[in-house]
Order: sequence, then structure tokens, then C-alpha cells
Amino acid sequence: MNRGFYIGRFQPYHNGHQSVLERIACFSDEIVIGIGSAQLSHTVANPFTAGERVLMLTRSLEGLRCPFYVIPIEDIQRNALWVAHVQSMTPPFDTIYSSNPLVMQLFSEEGMDVQSPDMYERQTHSGTEIRRRMLDGEPWEHLVPPAVVDVVREIRGVERLQRIAGSD
Ligand code: ATP
Ligand code: MG
Repeated sequence: MNRGFYIGRFQPYHNGHQSVLERIACFSDEIVIGIGSAQLSHTVANPFTAGERVLMLTRSLEGLRCPFYVIPIEDIQRNALWVAHVQSMTPPFDTIYSSNPLVMQLFSEEGMDVQSPDMYERQTHSGTEIRRRMLDGEPWEHLVPPAVVDVVREIRGVERLQRIAGSD
């Protein structure tokens, strides 16, 4: 049994994340997906709640070729204890897939197997770029799975982002 682990903030979940998870699914028996900074929402950098992000991921990954678990994980302000914190919230996993330098470093220091998947069109497929497009009223829908477009529409996500970015 090889259970993989993948973590991100997913603000929002996009096609880059989806392409990595589809690749990981090919050589994993199960995948654990952590939604990081779960406590944050309604800010310009973190507009969506953990629950909204659970919806984005679960709906987009329907039909993935292996079972997966989506688990919100709140920040703790202690990097040295973060791996134990993650492990306390998740099913046990064997391999970590991440390109985030801090995530890679923290898991490596615990002696765990860390793999760095190739990026998928990183220039446009980044949460930062997608939030910028939402704010500026530019097209973003082609950068995310169709289910994410539905969720953002359902929760009026673009209006939320534009409002909280405004000044009083
Ligand atoms: P933000 O710009 O808000 O930081 P992000 O696109 O980097 O958003 P995260 O949620 O921070 O997304 O990233 C989660 C994981 O997905 C990280 O390990 C990151 O390296 C990876 N990732 C992000 N974009 C891509 C991409 N285009 N292709 C492959 N992996 C990606
Ligand atoms: Mg990032």
C-alpha cells in the first residue's frame, strides 16, 4: 500500500494542482490531500474557506483513479512541530509530493520520502495569477477545473474578492 500526500492552500484549486494529482494517482494506492492554512478566508490572498476548498477539490477529483481524502489543516506557528501536526490530522502516508521548499525541508528532516513533481504551465497556473485575474475582471475560468468555476459562482467568490480588496 503506497499512500501519497499532497498539500496546498488551493486559493483556488487550479489545473496545475489537478494535473499533479492525476499523475500521482497513477502510482499511488490512495492520496491524502491537505488543505493548508485552513483557518484563513475572506482575505485577498486567501479568499475561500476550508469548506469551499473541500468542495472545489472533491468535485474536481470525482473519477480520480484512486481513493482520496481531503483534510483541512490549520496553521501552527511552529515549523519545527509542523510535520507532527500534519500527521496528527491525516491517515498515515509514505510519500510526500511537493515543490514547496519549506514543506520539502520539513518532511526531509523527519527522514520521509519527498518527491518533487514537475510544474504544469506555472506562469499562468498559479493561485496568485488567478486571484489577480478575478480582481481585475480578466478571464480565469480556463485555468481551473469546471467544478471550481461552479463553486466560485455558487458562493459569489469573485464579488467577495473584489469587495474585500476595496478600500473604505
Ligand atoms: P499561490 O500563488 O496562492 O501560492 P499556488 O498556485 O502556488 O498558489 P498552492 O496552493 O500554494 O498554489 O500550491 C500547492 C502546491 O501546488 C505547491 O506544492 C505548489 O508548488 C504546487 N503547484 C502550484 N502551481 C502548480 C503548477 N502550475 N503545476 C504544478 N504544481 C503546482
Ligand atoms: Mg504557492
